[in-house]
Amino acid sequence: MKKINIAIDGFSGCGKSTLAKQLASRLNYLFVDTGAMYRAISFLVIHCGDCEDPIQNVINSKPKIAFEPISNEVLIDGINHELEIRGQLVASRVSEIAADRRVREYLLDLQQSFISDKGVVMEGRDIATVVMPEAELKLFITADIMTRVERRFSQIVESGLAAERSEVQKNLESRDRSDIDRKTAPLKIANGAIIIDTTNMNREEQVRFIESLAKPLISPETYLGAFISK
Ligand code: C5P
Repeated sequence: MKKINIAIDGFSGCGKSTLAKQLASRLNYLFVDTGAMYRAISFLVIHCGDCEDPIQNVINSKPKIAFEPISNEVLIDGINHELEIRGQLVASRVSEIAADRRVREYLLDLQQSFISDKGVVMEGRDIATVVMPEAELKLFITADIMTRVERRFSQIVESGLAAERSEVQKNLESRDRSDIDRKTAPLKIANGAIIIDTTNMNREEQVRFIESLAKPLISPETYLGAFISK
């Protein structure tokens, strides 16, 4: 069966990662969470100690960022740092660090190394515009701000960390602003992207809807065949 690449962009806290992960698992595709990569670099920058130029220092050390096979948790130089990268400290700095051109260049190479074999669901902010503009299916996911606060809040609490809704909202809004306003690879809707507002959709409805967009591209013959009598 033909394989395609699926690019998913959108605002913080829309539940894109969970959605992309489920979609990848149903299609038997590779899931790449690029937000986790920016969080990993941010974690290293924050803990750089007395470095003069922490970002340059981290880039020079060429950290290896990878994912655990099934859980998809982040490995930095082989060590699992999933819990740390999801905390509020990283969340409060990640957008500022992700706006740095050196960080984006470093991660772009890594992200593009995944796409040549196709069969990838990649999620982030600049996937359809910069990382894989040739993706066969491009989606822009959004939801209203209070829905996003609730989704992100539950995610943090479920992972065992403390959170306050007002802080989560402030953080999401400031990250949105920074992602839209930055000079390098800002968040925008790519040409040809389908916009999906998930405010009133549960997870299953979201995954099914995207599957219904992907399947005709993966297997057009089967799809057409389903509509004609034998
Ligand atoms: O998706 P997540 O919330 O984990 O992403 C963390 C941050 O990383 C975002 O707020 C955004 O600033 C940055 N990011 C980015 N480009 C991507 C993915 C994430 O700038 N492709």
